[in-house]
Amino acid sequence: MKILLVDDSRAIALVTTARLESFGHEVRHAINGQLAIELFQRDQFDLVLMDIEMPGMNGFETTTRIRALEGHEPWAWTPIIFVTATDTDTNLVTAIEAGGDDFISKSVSESVLQAKMKALARIAAMRQRLAQANAKLQDQANRDGLTGLFNRRAMDLRVDALWEDAVRFGKPFSLLMIDVDNFKKYNDFYGHQAGDECLRTVAGCIERVVGAASEDQMVPGAFVARYGGEEFTVVIPEAVSGVHVGLGLGIVEAIAALAIPHEANAAWGIVTVSAGAACMSPAIGSVGQVFRLADELLYKAKSQGRNRLAGD
Ligand code: GH3
Ligand code: MG
Ligand code: MG
Ligand code: MG
Repeated sequence: MKILLVDDSRAIALVTTARLESFGHEVRHAINGQLAIELFQRDQFDLVLMDIEMPGMNGFETTTRIRALEGHEPWAWTPIIFVTATDTDTNLVTAIEAGGDDFISKSVSESVLQAKMKALARIAAMRQRLAQANAKLQDQANRDGLTGLFNRRAMDLRVDALWEDAVRFGKPFSLLMIDVDNFKKYNDFYGHQAGDECLRTVAGCIERVVGAASEDQMVPGAFVARYGGEEFTVVIPEAVSGVHVGLGLGIVEAIAALAIPHEANAAWGIVTVSAGAACMSPAIGSVGQVFRLADELLYKAKSQGRNRLAGD
C-alpha cells in the first residue's frame, strides 16, 4: 500500500516508516497537517496514518479537511487511522466524528500492526477493483453496443460542452451527418445480421478517417458518434474553414473504396453513404441550427443522387 504517515515527531516517523516498509509498504511522511493536506491533494494514497497531537493543526482538524477534499464516490474514500499515545474513549469518539476509521495505540505490537495493515490492504484492493469496474461501466454507458462508437447520449453531452467552449472562444463549430444509402434494401437483400456487420464496418471506416485527420492536427478534438440507426455524426469542434467539407468528402470516398457489395443500391452496386457538412459560428446560430443545417444538407445529397456530400 501507499501510506501517508502524518506525525510531528521525526523520531517516531522514522521508526514507523521502517516498520511499515519492512511489511512491504511505501511510506510518505508529512511533518504537519498542512503538509499532509498538500500531499493528499497531489497523490493517491491507500491509507493515512494520522497522529492526533500535533502543534498547529491537530490530527482531527487535518482529517476533517482531508475528508472535505474527497469526492463522494465510495472508492474515493481513503481509510484514515489515528495513531496516538493516549487512547481514551473521548479521543476515539472524536476521531470517528472527524472522519477517521480506526484508532491504534503508538505502543501497538508488531503483530497487531501487521494484521491491521493486512486488513486495510484488502480494503484498498477492493476499492481499486470498484473504481475500475465503475470506469468500465461509465464507458459502456457512453458507447453504442453494435459499433462501439459514442452513443447519442454521450454525443449530446459532449456537444453541449463543446458548444459552450465555441461560444466562449468565438470558434466555429462543424458537424457532419452521414447516412448509409438504401440501407433498408441492404437488410432486405442480405439479411439483418449482414446489415449489422455492414454498420460495424462503416463505423470503423469513419472512425479511421477521422482518427487519421485528427492525428494530422486537421481536426483536433473531432469525434464520431452513432446518431441512430444507419446514421452517424462527426463532431468537429475547432475546424478552420472548409476542413469539415474535406473530411466529409474523405469519408464518402473511403466508404465507397471499401467496395462492400450492395446489389440493391441502384446506381452503385456497393455500399455508399451520403453526407451533409455544416459549419456555424456560435455568434450567428445555435447548436440546434447546426444539426438542422447538416440534416438539410444530407437530404440535399440524397436528392442529388446519393454517394456524395453536400456542404454549406
Ligand atoms: P436512404 O438512402 O434514403 O437513407 O434509404 P435507407 O433505406 O437507408 O433509409 P431508411 O430510413 O428508409 O431505412 C433505414 C434502415 O436502416 C431501416 C432499418 O431497418 C435499418 N437499420 C437501422 N438500424 C439498424 C441496425 O442497427 N441494424 C440493421 N441491420 N439495420 C438497421
Ligand atoms: Mg504528535
Ligand atoms: Mg436514415
Ligand atoms: Mg439511409
